[in-house]
Amino acid sequence: MSLSPIPQGVYPSVTHISPQKLAARGIKLVLADLDNTLVPYKVTEPPAEIVAWKEALEQAGIALFLLSNSRKPGRAQHFAEKLGIPYQGRSGKPKKAGYLRAMERMGARPQETVMVGDQIFTDTLGANNAGAVPLLVEPIRLAGNPGRYIRYAAEAPFRLLGKRRPFL
Ligand SMILES: [Mg+2]
Repeated sequence: MSLSPIPQGVYPSVTHISPQKLAARGIKLVLADLDNTLVPYKVTEPPAEIVAWKEALEQAGIALFLLSNSRKPGRAQHFAEKLGIPYQGRSGKPKKAGYLRAMERMGARPQETVMVGDQIFTDTLGANNAGAVPLLVEPIRLAGNPGRYIRYAAEAPFRLLGKRRPFL
């Protein structure tokens, strides 16, 4: 475990993360962020490509779990139920408690778990903190909130370092 903000690989989107390659690395559990990772902010239904990715994970023997910091009432629950996966809203990332609770619920050890998310200072930092493998994806959409561009710029050095050490 560490307080590192460096991910192990940066991927264009979650569907670029191969279930077969994850399984080959011994992964049993994928914790996924919601906003700007699986869908843009405000999108409430899982699109077809996310449904297909979840099914491919299952076929590879890997469970998908929604680990969201969303404070919008019902948002994480609704999305997870539509996708048919377990979830935890208001997870408190980057604190490790939410990750540890999710892994315990799912019966997976940290070294069998990856966290897929779009933000270094929540998703990646928390995964490293909890001992899980941090995979970063490009945010789906930065438009709509100027703060997102500023944050993305602040993340740039860590994104670069993460590209040099891909997990897959
Ligand atoms: Mg996000």
